[in-house]
Amino acid sequence: MFKFEDNYGLDITPRIKIPGHLVGEVQSKLAYVDEQIYKAEVDTLGEHIHLDFHQPLEQSELVTIEAKVQRVVEKMVQGTIKPKIVVLENHMDRVTPNNTDPTSELYSLGEIYQEADGIYSLGPMLSRLIDFFEQQFLSLAKFFNATPYRFPTLIPAKYLEQVNYFQAFPHSLTFVTHLREDLDVIDHFAEEASCKEDSLTTDMGSFDKIQTLLSPAVCYHLYFALAGKTLTNESLAATSVSNCFRYESINLDSLERMWNFTMREVIFVGSKDYVLENREIARQEMEPFFEQLGLAYRVETANDPFFIGEFRKQAAFQSAFQLKFEIRASLPFKKSTLAIGSYNYHQDFFGRNLNINLSDGSPVHTGCVAFGLERVAFAFLAQYGIDPNNWPSIVREYVN
Ligand code: AMP
Ligand code: ZN
Repeated sequence: MFKFEDNYGLDITPRIKIPGHLVGEVQSKLAYVDEQIYKAEVDTLGEHIHLDFHQPLEQSELVTIEAKVQRVVEKMVQGTIKPKIVVLENHMDRVTPNNTDPTSELYSLGEIYQEADGIYSLGPMLSRLIDFFEQQFLSLAKFFNATPYRFPTLIPAKYLEQVNYFQAFPHSLTFVTHLREDLDVIDHFAEEASCKEDSLTTDMGSFDKIQTLLSPAVCYHLYFALAGKTLTNESLAATSVSNCFRYESINLDSLERMWNFTMREVIFVGSKDYVLENREIARQEMEPFFEQLGLAYRVETANDPFFIGEFRKQAAFQSAFQLKFEIRASLPFKKSTLAIGSYNYHQDFFGRNLNINLSDGSPVHTGCVAFGLERVAFAFLAQYGIDPNNWPSIVREYVN
């Protein structure tokens, strides 16, 4: 069932009601239904979907889009059971001094500069603030005697294939290529290359096959470096910080949801007990820091944003086995929360797929603690405002 709205928009009644716990998940996936969609909203009751388009569409196009939307809802919703959310920490009642969105002030101070959707440069105050949090994450790494690694920004397609990334998160991939090694192609490009509406006008045939992508995560690189090896020390703690890339389409939103962001991880490789124990110790180690900071947040079970077809099964599996806990900081200006980090356990998935073993021949288990650096800073500023006089003294003293 749909209703036309001068063909610039479309109201859809989903054939299956979208339960409250899936409203956000479905809404974010609607971005990938059709290139014409620039805004997608699901009402809180899950009974109504509204889409806005870049231009008026033909009736036949509306019919096609409606069918695709119904397919998304059906695949994500049918047969789902509301997961039991396990809350490990709840400090949402902490009172913080700010309840406005810091974004516009950050723009006017020159603290954020948007190069394109989801791509930002950060100024000195934000850089120092992120450095303050980095020092804390580095002391967490030091606590575990984590060894430092530096990982590339690029990742080979065949690596992501090996860990089923293409099935799980196809929508968020970012592909990398270069000109074909052909003098005519390169000369032609050098002479003719130009941008029209932000896009290169170059013929796609000038580009080579895609063998490489921009990396969506940090810890994968460690697992690939360990592939085929036996962990003679039985366990490994490592740490690294990297640029990560997740294309979030129309969901890209200031520092909250970026295409290019930075992640600090502390990574554990070893037996099941080793990984689970250390993931829990890491959480306990971080709690006093967040308390000192006065951050309003909670830590609770969560799932990764799997794509439509994979969503139901994978998300249910993750929550049933408590594989992922998110640190969700309050965003008072929105009366909502934002994941600033996660405590993850991958069971022996990477050990099995990449043939990384313990000395008894069994596959290693892995886990990681991941912090999104821009989001940590953003959530802090959303709670404390941009005036350092209102910040907790530990932050003010470091940043000034
Ligand atoms: P994940 O591996 O999905 O748990 O991501 C770890 C952390 O990275 C999240 O808790 C966020 O803080 C951050 N993060 C993930 N996706 C984005 C994004 N699109 N923009 C900014 N930060 C992100
Ligand atoms: Zn990780």
